[in-house]
Amino acid sequence: MTQFTDLGLAEPLLRAISAEGYRTPTPIQAEAIPAMLAGRDILGIAQTGTGKTAAFVLPLLDRIARRRARPGARSCGALILAPTRELAAQIADNIRTYGRFLRPSVAVVVGGVKPGPQIRALAPGVDIVVATPGRLLDHLSSGVIRLDRTTAVVLDEGDQMLDLGFAPAIRRIMNRLPANRQTVLMSATMPRPIRALARDYQSDPVTIAVTPAATPIARIDQRVMHVDRAGKRRVLTALLADPAVERAIVFTRTKRGADKVNRYLQMAGLSAAAIHGNKSQGQRERVLAAFRSGHTTILVATDIAARGIDVDDISHIVNYELPNVAESYVHRIGRTARAGRAGIAVTLCDPAERGLLRDIERLIGNTLDRHAISLEASRPVPGEPEPAAAPPKKTGGKRHGRARSAQQTQATVRSNRKQAHHADAPAPGPARRPGRIGPERTGGDAAVTVAAAAV
Ligand code: AMP
Repeated sequence: MTQFTDLGLAEPLLRAISAEGYRTPTPIQAEAIPAMLAGRDILGIAQTGTGKTAAFVLPLLDRIARRRARPGARSCGALILAPTRELAAQIADNIRTYGRFLRPSVAVVVGGVKPGPQIRALAPGVDIVVATPGRLLDHLSSGVIRLDRTTAVVLDEGDQMLDLGFAPAIRRIMNRLPANRQTVLMSATMPRPIRALARDYQSDPVTIAVTPAATPIARIDQRVMHVDRAGKRRVLTALLADPAVERAIVFTRTKRGADKVNRYLQMAGLSAAAIHGNKSQGQRERVLAAFRSGHTTILVATDIAARGIDVDDISHIVNYELPNVAESYVHRIGRTARAGRAGIAVTLCDPAERGLLRDIERLIGNTLDRHAISLEASRPVPGEPEPAAAPPKKTGGKRHGRARSAQQTQATVRSNRKQAHHADAPAPGPARRPGRIGPERTGGDAAVTVAAAAV
């Protein structure tokens, strides 16, 4: 098996890796690090959880360890583009962690905060800039930063950047970089527009495709509850009131929905906070920090805000609303069962969402078990009316690269179905406390009965 010492990384990086407790490189690290050190472009098909961040950050830091000259004023040695502010901040944290014995200069350039501190940080020149495309483009246009001396660029979560409409910004940025730079493109899926980016901006890339090392989906106990729209709130409160819920993320489809569910949970006395794109950067950071530290136990989030969030020990995922794109389901539930643990994902499906549920089941190649819950413990919270149901849009069929990802996921699910009863899988406990999430053993009809009771 490849060891970190086999990869050719500078000694201060090996020390930092060992201080982090990493023993062996993940598959993407074993392949990408030597190729990047040799100056090759990389096309990586990998999602969060594969160790992809270290796979591109370590070689960038290796250059810094061996460099002769510092980047000039308003320049950066390497540029990393990411779709969200959270992911950019997380990548910068990783750079600081792996670069602790090198102390590289890092600037985070994202929207939603004042530009002044960023302008000051960029002025002397920095080793690595981690940026979201929109704000970087602002700084490029105003001459705050130049990219003509940048020697490496990484596009992380490429598919999500395109989903967010960043393609024109990315192309404008890429055109400002020197032709002989190194280009790394990481994407969870490989839709045609990503291939087009690779074709236009990479030169003979090494293609590396990996599924997460310990595919989390195998350890996730996935369940569905058929609930009328009006009954979702009570069911949600009952689910989350279970003491087994150590830390949970509740997904909604819209920002407004996230705020409403959050308010409802708070009124029900639960420790919740919402995170979505309408919150200021400061608010988002505070909410995430409180969730990480355990001060808040429930995060109510939209898909985009949650993607890339790397928080361990999330015991439960609740899909309060089904995602419009089936692949988002896999990303959502992948927030639990990290670091070798088990996790529970419960999807609340109302009659209007049945088509979306079928899409998800087709994607994962499995039918979700129906589950029931006793609602004795949950009392409806007076006051707020139900949030208006945003009719689900079916956009799944438009998403590119879906077939490939579906195949990969199906293969994983099939090969792991047998393991569903191994030691890691949550045991279907015989006792069911009020409000406890328990496997439905009396057949699907009981779940329907409960759903009716919840209305
Ligand atoms: P990423 O896919 O980059 O989001 O990384 C997922 C998680 O894996 C992060 O929490 C990393 O700290 C961790 N990680 C990355 N590389 C390794 C490794 N070689 N051994 C153990 N954990 C790792």
